[in-house]
Amino acid sequence: MITDYLLPCDCGSPQTVTTRQAGQQVTCRCGRVLTVPALRELRKLATHATEAKPRHKSWSLGRGISFFIGILLLLIGAGTYYYFQTLVSRFQVPTAGLAQQQLTERIEAANAQQLWELWTAMRENALASRPNPARAEAELLRDRLALVRNLGGGLAFLGVGLAAIAYGNIGRLLGSPGTSRT
Ligand SMILES: [Zn+2]
Repeated sequence: MITDYLLPCDCGSPQTVTTRQAGQQVTCRCGRVLTVPALRELRKLATHATEAKPRHKSWSLGRGISFFIGILLLLIGAGTYYYFQTLVSRFQVPTAGLAQQQLTERIEAANAQQLWELWTAMRENALASRPNPARAEAELLRDRLALVRNLGGGLAFLGVGLAAIAYGNIGRLLGSPGTSRT
């Protein structure tokens, strides 16, 4: 609620001013130019709750835009979350267990010469002891996908919050029960 102050005029009809007009000049309906006092002096004047229609109109337009943006953020955020969650859930990081299992199967199926070749290859690559670069790369990519997914989720929450706040204010403007303050 914006507080309006009543700036007295010599004509007897006080002018309604807000704190934003402090220090500025306003023209009364009678034609007199009145200087709005500084904020400290302005606060000493009589007040009344604003009833001005034009302000309500622009206010509701602003809230309407906020509501629209909120819904838009929600849709984009939820879409991003869903899409990247799908990517993350389908993502397969090669596990050490899987590599170990494949190696065991190869050893069990190998003849003497294949075992020798396998051992030579392992000695050159140090497969068992060296960290798996493919796995590290895959994990990094998965973490990035998860990060984008989380950002999408955050965006969706932000949109819900914005839309809810805007909707509450629109509801209050329309005077619908339940959304007005008690
Ligand atoms: Zn006047």
